[in-house]
Amino acid sequence: MRSMTWKSLVLDAIQGLPKHFSLEDLTSKRAWFAGHYPDNRFVDAKIRQTLQLLRDQGAIVFAGNGRYARTETQPEFSPLIHPGLGTGYNSSSQIARVVIETWAEMNLYCLTCDADSLSRHRANKIGSDFFCAACRSEYQVKAKNGRFGNTLTRANYRSTVEAANRGNMPEHILVEYDLRRRSVVFVDAIHGRNITAERILARTELAPTARRAGWIGCTISIVDLARTQIGVPTGLDRAAVRREWR
Ligand SMILES: [Zn+2]
Repeated sequence: MRSMTWKSLVLDAIQGLPKHFSLEDLTSKRAWFAGHYPDNRFVDAKIRQTLQLLRDQGAIVFAGNGRYARTETQPEFSPLIHPGLGTGYNSSSQIARVVIETWAEMNLYCLTCDADSLSRHRANKIGSDFFCAACRSEYQVKAKNGRFGNTLTRANYRSTVEAANRGNMPEHILVEYDLRRRSVVFVDAIHGRNITAERILARTELAPTARRAGWIGCTISIVDLARTQIGVPTGLDRAAVRREWR
């Protein structure tokens, strides 16, 4: 099922507002946003988070007191993340998930074709997070606070092996971030077709007493798999750094 990203939703909403607008102008469209994301309980938090990322990307400026202005420039890549805006979620893994998911929506682009943005699948779509509306490439985003080791954890063992055997494995995007420094650090991509069935290892079956008894997860060995670096720590503008320093 197709869904728009928060980036495209918020940008659409902003385009319909005067150049100078307020948070209120957007949160009053809550129902319209929720219509696109009926399973999202934190519409206001997502709007605020998306605004922060659009500011990082230069598309808007904050004027203070909940006021914003459009800059009329296209959003640019930004490595910054905003953990504080995961407020409302219970566990640190949920917070990390929503923060990175939003970052990915804002910054990832298609590697296969020239499309500059990816669309997000509804939350319940198993296996892939994003797809390209132009060429239909599928992407799975994996994120880690720190560096990835030799394996990735993936959900269901059987469906993962089936996807590999059918040649349906999505491209994998590995996002390594540093929560303390509030930044994405390295972003690598691995071709889904290189993730073959023998790299997929079953984990121990959940105990009969577990909520999902009998369910088997898996890990994917990524040892020696070719990676394409699609993001590295971006350089800062030296003049700005020196001004700050002085
Ligand atoms: Zn594409």
